[in-house]
Order: sequence, then C-alpha cells, then structure tokens
Amino acid sequence: MPRPRTTTVRDLRKSNRSRALWEVFLNGPLTRQEVGAVAGLSPATVSNLVAALVAEGVVAEVGLEDSNGGRPRGLLQVNPDYGYVIGVDVGETAFLVELFDFSLRPLARHTSVTDLSVLDPDDAVGHIVTGITSVIAEAGVAEQAILGVGVAVPGLVEHRESAVVHGQSVGWDAVPLEAMLRRETDLPILVDNGAKTLGQAERWFGAARGTDNAVIVLLGIGVGMCFISNGEVYRGATSSAGEWGHTTVMVGGRTCRCGAEGCLEAYVGAGAIVDRYEELKGRQTATSPAGLEGRIAAITGAREQDRAAAQVLGETVSYLGAGLADLVNLFNPERIVVGGWLGRALSDELLPEIRAAAQRQALRLPFSRVEIVKADLGPDAVALGGATLPIGRLLSAGAVRSYPADGRRVRSAIAPG
Ligand SMILES: [Zn+2]
Repeated sequence: MPRPRTTTVRDLRKSNRSRALWEVFLNGPLTRQEVGAVAGLSPATVSNLVAALVAEGVVAEVGLEDSNGGRPRGLLQVNPDYGYVIGVDVGETAFLVELFDFSLRPLARHTSVTDLSVLDPDDAVGHIVTGITSVIAEAGVAEQAILGVGVAVPGLVEHRESAVVHGQSVGWDAVPLEAMLRRETDLPILVDNGAKTLGQAERWFGAARGTDNAVIVLLGIGVGMCFISNGEVYRGATSSAGEWGHTTVMVGGRTCRCGAEGCLEAYVGAGAIVDRYEELKGRQTATSPAGLEGRIAAITGAREQDRAAAQVLGETVSYLGAGLADLVNLFNPERIVVGGWLGRALSDELLPEIRAAAQRQALRLPFSRVEIVKADLGPDAVALGGATLPIGRLLSAGAVRSYPADGRRVRSAIAPG
C-alpha cells in the first residue's frame, strides 16, 4: 500500500518520466505529440523529459513520421541496448532461461530438463544459476548491463523481505528462493508465480493487450490464472490470488496434488487427463511428467477414432467450461485468454466446445460481454513474463536505476557470500 506522503517536484518529475516511458515501451514508436496526449503531459514537459531519456540512452529516436507537409516528427522507441533482462521459467519438467534486450527481443536461451517434484531446491538454484551464466555468455553481454532477473515459479510466491515459494503440489514448502539465488548471484532478482508472469506477458504483448479487465489462464500439469483488474495484476493479501486450479469442482471428488479433493486441477490438469484416459482404457500406465505433452497430443489427435479419447476430452471440456464460467461470474472480465502448453493444445482443437461449455454454466449478461480466446504467445511466454518483472519495476521507477549505473553491485545483506 502506498503511504500518504508529500509529493515533491522530484517525485512529479519521476512519475512523468514513468508515464512517458510506459507509453513508449508498450506502444512505441510514438511521436512526442502522441506521448504527451496519451500520458497527459504538456508539450514542454514531454520535450524536456524525452531529451533527458534520449541523453541517458533509455529512449532512442528511430525515424521520422511525415506530418502532411509540416515539419517531420521524430519517432521514439525504447533503446534496445539500454540494458538486458533475463527471464526464468521454473517449469515442472524443464527450466528455461532466456536473455532479452530492453525491447524484450530474445538473444539467448538455455534449457535444462528435470522433474521439479523430485528436485531439491538447492539443485533448482543450481539449474537457474547455470542457465543465467550460460545465456550471458551466449549473448556476449556484460553482466553489469543486466538490469535484473525475473524468475517465474509454480506455486504461491509470498513477498516477505524476500520472496518465499510455497509449491504445495511439488513439495516445496516455504522455500526462500530469492535469498538462495542472492547467495549465488549479485544480479537483481525478482520472483513471481508463473501464471502471473504469463498474464503480464499476454497483457503487454499478447492476446490480453488493450484490455483493462482480463483473465489469463495457464493450463499445464498445474492450473493457475492471472486476473488483470483495472490494468494491474490482482494479487490479494499475500499475493496468492489466482489459484484457480485449487477451486473445488466436485465435493469429495478426485484427490488433487495439493492434498484436497475435487480441485479443478484434478480434472483438467495434464496429469489428470492422461490418468483418466488410462482409466477408461482399463490400464494403469504411469506417465512421467516429461511425457505428458506427447500423451496429450496423442489423445487430442485420436478423438475421431478412439472413444476413450473422445470421452476424456468431452469431460475435460465440461469441467474447463465450468471453471471458466466461474471466472466469468466472479470477475466479469472482458476477455479470457487460454494459455499454457495444455491450454494452447486444447484450444487449437476444442475452443468452440470450451466456449459452449462455459456458456452453459455462466450468467448470460457477463458471458455476453466476454471473449474467450487462445493465447498469442508461444511456449516461451512464462519466461518472457519473468523478464517483464525487472522491466516493469524499472519503468515504474522512471528508469532511475536503484543501483549504481557503473556496474558496482551491493551484495544483499541476506547473503554472506
Ligand atoms: Zn488442489
């Protein structure tokens, strides 16, 4: 909660810079006139602050817009080389680490395959640090030019003095991930839930762009969602809002990975779909987490000729539709974006059926005002979303860096070495 305080001229200048920067970042290239109009700033203010941002290398002039016989107008965009960010997707079956320039163009990536549920948190930190070192080397950028690392994880992320991860479904109990990473790297670290980073990426660049009230759902082995409320990610009291996968769809139903019964995830998560298919086939074949993507592709591909596949997909559509209808009734979003590898796979084949199932359960008025669409961004969206964390922090601070620009870094007090 922002504390009430006296606004100084310096604060005002910083917030004007921040508003202008957000516009240029998300909607550039823009002319100074457009920046002033959308950010609500006078021409003189825009001209001064743009001059400073160009001089500092945050924003660059990238061309001229012809203005109908008038003087051509300069077009402004963020300078991709201003700095670099790293996004980390701590997935349940693989870790993806990606390095991006300041315009979020990917420059290097590193993947390591693992099963998160059997991975010790110390080993997870090792995977992340190896990935970070690898992408910095591959991109050939100086470590001092890295603005920050955003780490997306499954489970709840509690922001205490540093971020603590509660991954109940994968056996991570109050893991102090941020402090553990700070012991290994001096780079600024931000940690958030993967559904929230996916939501932020889709809101900035994907299918939720231009919306102020949207829900982005993430379907994979786990099931989560991000609610964008009035343009901001809704977090709740301790940042755990959005655990849609653990809302109850069947009292006394199937046991969920979280330990409760009848959770949505136990019906529409990838493991649940494959287990149900095996049950219908009268088999008891265990599938490794890494094998689930292939199994789901086989089931969706076989639905015309395989009755068990058709049945399990029909059930999945019904439960998913009910879960989406709950979101429509609770939040009245203008758009629901279905993302995550499983969400994309299901919407490729079944989006009209999913919409119809949601319509059967939702109230007519909010349903008539919502679009249900497939996510735009591909399988790297969670890592891209991780990279939006340091960028968002920087833009909100008006690109006034919180650590010395000469690359000196202050080790966290939590990390003795
Ligand atoms: Zn659950």
